[in-house]
Amino acid sequence: MPVAHSGLGWPDLPPSEHATGVGWPEKGVSRQRIPATGTPRVERMATVTQTPLNPGDSPLVREALNSVVSRETPATKLPIQAGDSFLDDSWPKPAKTRVIAVANQKGGVGKTTTSVNIAAALSMKGERVLVVDLDPQGNASTALATEHRGDVPDVYQVLVDDLPMADIVKQVPDMPNLYCAPATIDLAGAEIELVSLVAREARLRRALAAYDAVDFDYVIIDCPPSLGLLTVNALVAADEVMIPIQCEYYALEGLGQLLRNVDLIKAHLNPTLRLSTIVLTMYDGRTRLASQVADEVRAHFGDTVLSTVIPRSVRLSEAPSYGQSVMTYDPGSSGAMAYMDAAREIAHRAMV
Ligand code: ADP
Ligand code: MG
Repeated sequence: MPVAHSGLGWPDLPPSEHATGVGWPEKGVSRQRIPATGTPRVERMATVTQTPLNPGDSPLVREALNSVVSRETPATKLPIQAGDSFLDDSWPKPAKTRVIAVANQKGGVGKTTTSVNIAAALSMKGERVLVVDLDPQGNASTALATEHRGDVPDVYQVLVDDLPMADIVKQVPDMPNLYCAPATIDLAGAEIELVSLVAREARLRRALAAYDAVDFDYVIIDCPPSLGLLTVNALVAADEVMIPIQCEYYALEGLGQLLRNVDLIKAHLNPTLRLSTIVLTMYDGRTRLASQVADEVRAHFGDTVLSTVIPRSVRLSEAPSYGQSVMTYDPGSSGAMAYMDAAREIAHRAMV
């Protein structure tokens, strides 16, 4: 197969229907800054309150601008409108549950880290979130301090033995809006056992439907590093696919195969499935390769790629061993702030 781009391991990607994904709600609104001096105060504030946040803004810039508003806002003089996106950081709730499969058949690209931290970030903003651990390694369960050893009922029993989802879902400790459906090592057998079962591709979809997932704003499915029946179950159950791409050489190999599988599932098993989100992970700003990979991915997939990139951060890799997401382990770390920004982008895309 010909390689489409410049030596970065690009696969033979299908035509770029994926390039026209969803955009940021405030896209196209040009950024206005606060005039430094010389403008009457009320006029100046009026400019500020109309200024939307930009997805590219760093948390520091946001903090700085927010503090300008809160310091300068005279409670009696400046009418602050409810729903003003600049001042009100509440996130929109999706009209119906968004089921998002986090998939990439490559291991170690950040699927679990992304699933867990996006889920935690959303839950901290008041969204009700369920993480379904679909990887026999159980890494997401570990990171969410959800028991997944021994006889604990798990996703395997839901998929293979028809156990109701309600019997396995646990609330994540100290995270009131976050829930986890754990995976034990038993799940490793499911790839084979599913083969002979009725509706083998739709077992997770059925289980979620029966579970009345309506209660959740988000269901995030952490897929295993393969394109087998477990990942197929995730893609059949989901409305959206989120693909984490590691900003490294070879990162894009195999992507064509994943996208073809998404298209096949869309054509035959789940017509509403769409590639909604690509998130660039483990970005090391010091290397040219990382920015080259990021540029190539953006050139091909356009707005499907989140503006926020997830940097390499030791804190992100430490957090799971404490049974925590980085959002609680070290909320001020670069990784936590990036995942909060990424989650904000995802939440706002619900409006599109
Ligand atoms: P996957 O689920 O795709 O196999 P993981 O999320 O488990 O990938 O990530 C693989 C390894 O890389 C883990 O040890 C994880 O802690 C680490 N890791 C993931 N994202 C980052 C990051 N942005 N910075 C540093 N380490 C990371
Ligand atoms: Mg994983």
